Amino acid sequence: MIQPIIDDHVIARLRSLINGAKNVVITCHLSPDGDAIGSSLALCHVLQRLGKNATVVTPDMVPKSLLFLPYMRDVVVYTNSELRARNIVEQAQLIFCLDYNDMHRIDKLGELILRQSAPRVVIDHHLNPSDAFDLTISFPELSSTCELVYRVLLQMRMLNLIDRFAAQCLMVGMMTDTGNFTYGSENPELYEIQASLMRRHIDRNRLYNMAMNTFSADSLRLQGYALSEKMQLFPEKGAALITLNQDELKRFNYRRGDTEGLVNKPLSIPGIFWVVFFRQDPEYIKVSCRSQGNFSVNEICEKYFNGGGHLNAAGGEFYGTMEQAVETYMHILEETPDTTNQEQIS
Ligand code: 5GP
Ligand code: MN
Repeated sequence: MIQPIIDDHVIARLRSLINGAKNVVITCHLSPDGDAIGSSLALCHVLQRLGKNATVVTPDMVPKSLLFLPYMRDVVVYTNSELRARNIVEQAQLIFCLDYNDMHRIDKLGELILRQSAPRVVIDHHLNPSDAFDLTISFPELSSTCELVYRVLLQMRMLNLIDRFAAQCLMVGMMTDTGNFTYGSENPELYEIQASLMRRHIDRNRLYNMAMNTFSADSLRLQGYALSEKMQLFPEKGAALITLNQDELKRFNYRRGDTEGLVNKPLSIPGIFWVVFFRQDPEYIKVSCRSQGNFSVNEICEKYFNGGGHLNAAGGEFYGTMEQAVETYMHILEETPDTTNQEQIS
């Protein structure tokens, strides 16, 4: 039995906002991941079945590994079709903000949305949602925004609108945000939701292979190189650092998505419970952090890397050289107490 967690008055308000809108826009965060795009596509599909004119608008391109999701061709990408995106957003009577907690997370699209008078509904599981929303449905303790969208639909008595396509999208988001149910996935209700999605005749194994287990040869070689040559371990701090600069990325013909999952790998080493990965993108150094147990990488990303995220998975951006980024890391390391404290290792 899945327990209701959202207040009845929030559900009632959401129902009235949906009833009052014909044109609905659904947005998700920059560099959409499986949870961001999965929750957006699923909600969009459900709203369309309700008779709404619903469109997903993403701030930038969806990675190649997720293009197989149903109805992806209807997604409007702001950076590819700015005028079209602007038109759609300006016509909207209701705007959903999925899988992000702050308008800064969607760049120029955020500025556009902030200029609109249409009410904004956030459905998200990141910590500390900002006050830029008219209705906030935020549950940081949940595995994924996809899980939360399912719960919203459950409480709105709209589960019948989740068809096979929407079920695929929700499954992919729950899967990708939990490493295929290997972390953040202790709540038994998650498996009840999974079972309910499976009853819509989805091919879970195929979804896993497409969304999480498809890598090019270049990508595998790059990850192998990173682990073999570029991973530094600091066992006394329970820490690992991986860096990849532009030359190295070029050498392996780096494409977006090629380092997906790399930051998790050092966590498999006994005693290593937090990992930082610096990747030198053209505009800035992209920071990705992961941890286990109660070690908060979210705080590190907020304090040092203009970012945020969750307790155990967070990210941000560093503006400077790789040497400066590593210097900052060394400073963080110094501030981190030596660990003989096994409690930190879950
Ligand atoms: P990833 O390391 O996979 O890029 O991101 C992990 C988590 O951190 C995701 O939940 C994502 O939303 C969050 N995150 C990643 N990059 C940023 C960022 O630049 N700013 C903020 N606030 N969160 C981020
Ligand atoms: Mn998410």
